[in-house]
Amino acid sequence: MHSQFFYLLFNLVFLPNLVFAQEIALTFDDAPRSDGNLYTGLKRSEILLKKLEQYDVPQVAFFANSNKLDDVGELRLKMYGQAGHIIANHTHSHPHIHEVGVEAFIEDIKKADQILQELPGFRKWFRFPFLNEGRDEDSRDRIREALSKMGYINAYVTVDNYDWYLESMFQQALKEHKKINYELLKELYIQHIWESIQFYHKIGLKALNRPPKHVLLLHENDLAALYLDDLISFLRGEGWSIISPEEAYSDPIVDHLPDVLMNNQGRVAAIAREQGIEKRNLVQMSEDEQYLEDYFSKKKVFR
Ligand SMILES: [Zn+2]
Repeated sequence: MHSQFFYLLFNLVFLPNLVFAQEIALTFDDAPRSDGNLYTGLKRSEILLKKLEQYDVPQVAFFANSNKLDDVGELRLKMYGQAGHIIANHTHSHPHIHEVGVEAFIEDIKKADQILQELPGFRKWFRFPFLNEGRDEDSRDRIREALSKMGYINAYVTVDNYDWYLESMFQQALKEHKKINYELLKELYIQHIWESIQFYHKIGLKALNRPPKHVLLLHENDLAALYLDDLISFLRGEGWSIISPEEAYSDPIVDHLPDVLMNNQGRVAAIAREQGIEKRNLVQMSEDEQYLEDYFSKKKVFR
């Protein structure tokens, strides 16, 4: 009787949390990105740090390209590391594997490793440029082996999106001195990321029979600096917790390297692909440049 009661109580209290856990870590690629048309790189870093502190997000990860480390670039990464955030490897020069070849690609990772390991907050985490892990099995496996030998984990994402394309449209509009509807831009930026989260969350629930600890891909750009606080508030309002990347990479899928050639969509999509889900069901409509151009023009975000 007692044990049944406690079993029931356990399920009532804990099961909903296990089934409905909605957790996501924030990660920013391509740091330190150069000056934008809205913010200088330094100003952007200061804003990001201030907002993370104000909104009580003690740890995010910045995936860095070490060829961007001029004096200011290095200072910015140090500011991130000293504030408790993680600095990790995104190669030295952001190459395409198929353009430079596997050997040169691995050398580029090693070069970044040597430069970045001097920085505070550095971890041996590797984020593939373009989320491209190799177009054939031989390349993929040689790079996986090299990373493993160097003591790296594959710092995958679970939620891909086109924030980088929204940023490029925004930068173009600034350059052309267009009138920008910032309220609408904020709404569409958050909507784009929110739809991406929901899309990959559904795939994750199906593929894993549980919610994964998510990793959101963002870029260290002006839009992130503009709207990070609104994004964090929005996600919390929807019942999501912002977790640290360390916590996210404690998910068992960190050890699950899917045996597929499924690039660009992240880890849960690759696991779903491995289970036989067709690729067209793993790509969302909004991860498309023309789609976003048309949508933004219809909405008249920039005039
Ligand atoms: Zn990148």
